[in-house]
Amino acid sequence: MRQLEQGVAWPSPGTKFWEAPARSSPMPVDVGGGSSSVQPRDSRSLDVVHFTAELAPIAKVGGLGDVVHGLARTCLARGHNVTVIMPFYECLPQDQIEGLGFDMDIEVPKGKSWDGEIQLTTLKTAVYRGVIGGVPVILVRPADWDACNLFRGGRIYGGSYNELESYLYFCRAGLEYLRCSGQQPHILHLHEWQTCAAALLYWEVYSALGLYRPRVVLTIHNLDNTGECRQDEFAFTGIDGEQFATIERALDERTIGHNPERLNLMKGGMVYSNAVTTVSPTYAKEVLSGMQAGWLRSTLMRPEVNSKVRGILNGIDVEEWDPARDELLPANFSAQFPDGKALCKKYLQRGLGLDESPDKPVVAVITRLVPQKGIHLIKAALFRCLDKGAQFVLLGSGHCDGEFKAMAEQQFKDHKDIRLLVMYSESLAHQIYAAADIILVPSMFEPCGLTQMIGMRYGAVPVVRKTGGLADTVRDVDSHAPGEANGYTFDGTDEGSLHGALDRALTHFKEQRASWTELSATNMNTELSWSRSSADYVALYNSIAMP
Ligand code: ADP
Repeated sequence: MRQLEQGVAWPSPGTKFWEAPARSSPMPVDVGGGSSSVQPRDSRSLDVVHFTAELAPIAKVGGLGDVVHGLARTCLARGHNVTVIMPFYECLPQDQIEGLGFDMDIEVPKGKSWDGEIQLTTLKTAVYRGVIGGVPVILVRPADWDACNLFRGGRIYGGSYNELESYLYFCRAGLEYLRCSGQQPHILHLHEWQTCAAALLYWEVYSALGLYRPRVVLTIHNLDNTGECRQDEFAFTGIDGEQFATIERALDERTIGHNPERLNLMKGGMVYSNAVTTVSPTYAKEVLSGMQAGWLRSTLMRPEVNSKVRGILNGIDVEEWDPARDELLPANFSAQFPDGKALCKKYLQRGLGLDESPDKPVVAVITRLVPQKGIHLIKAALFRCLDKGAQFVLLGSGHCDGEFKAMAEQQFKDHKDIRLLVMYSESLAHQIYAAADIILVPSMFEPCGLTQMIGMRYGAVPVVRKTGGLADTVRDVDSHAPGEANGYTFDGTDEGSLHGALDRALTHFKEQRASWTELSATNMNTELSWSRSSADYVALYNSIAMP
């Protein structure tokens, strides 16, 4: 430990230490073990174009950005031609886009409904190219940004622009760009409701305009938001939405009989795609059984939709998330050389002004603070940690963050065991994962969940509610053999169920440290990369791609 401490720039409590380098000189110890993502080359090289609202690292709000980035990068390494088409948000840090340059101007059809009539215009659109985190990107935006309010403001979502109008325009602009640049990708891979209109437009408009080769994959990362759209609003794509307003196509069935009836973009995306994936096998089952299907239940029950849905578990980007090479940490570590983890814990405790005890387990939650994530259970865990002599660190933001802000500023201000950080910070997230003994994910539902996997990669033990992808990735210590087990799970949505799993984990940490250290090493060695999942996606692409 002493050798490791050389070069560590110890933080002063109460400062934004995560914004400064944690080391003043390079790591003195070679911790080995960092996995690289060397991929097998696939025999057939496919042209894949993703349409997405997010792309890590610079246009990320949650897991969507990580997933598109990880999948795209891995498929590139497997020998495929992958491009990501995304909005050129005003808030993008342009200095972090390599080789950013203007590509072309295109005229994108756009419309609006006026007095029951669709008024058609075109919007001059500027297309830029660049590379984000190793992935080639095409960025589209109105050429004259001042003339319209699309993708403007200081945030990806919830900026000062109309999201529905912007994403409908984006779908049209992405397809128009493919047509104008004469591309014929094998696969259009769409993500979430924001890009679903591209499936409708492709089959109803662009397949008659010379785009013939693409087949469409839609990945549903979360069915919580499905994109509600009045028929007249669909005119933002430049075509009338009326043709989609049937039960078979995109009519939002819960609005039948209302005036006006609405479209549901996610429904249309499912109907018009050749294949539909969700981000874990269990979430796929939950969605198909109707349990998590919400208003799209009857659509998902239809055999022609049902039969094209499957679950492919997300991976994580093991180069981005690599404790052996992570430069944001005060010390690196691996399963073979775990000492640096203890130093990372001490560093975080010091920086956050917590008691610097190695014997108090640090329970961490890194999350969007929205109902899906089990807000009441996050709170219950905080108080349980207090009772059980553990430390609790929350990094989160979202529309349920008010109560946590209040607790952070009053009840737990300067508390020696509790720190509630109501904000978004990528670098602090790295430091918390590295310091955490336990990563808690008590979601009400969870399509896949990345934080339990990132936590494991950094040697933390997950405590999760057994739902969706959490059920696919976490195997309980008390019901699985050593080597197979990697965490603690619970079923119920009540505090008692959470306490059962959390208490077992805390007792394990306190009473069997050697076995805990082994469990932590097992987790660090677990294969969590995109290797396996990307092979599944490539197999799916091949199963639908034209020759
Ligand atoms: P979701 O996509 O529902 O938000 P996931 O678990 O799939 O949940 O992905 C969450 C991703 O966002 C992870 O990479 C996590 O580290 C990151 N994240 C969530 N909240 C924060 C935050 N407040 N600060 C930094 N990173 C965060």
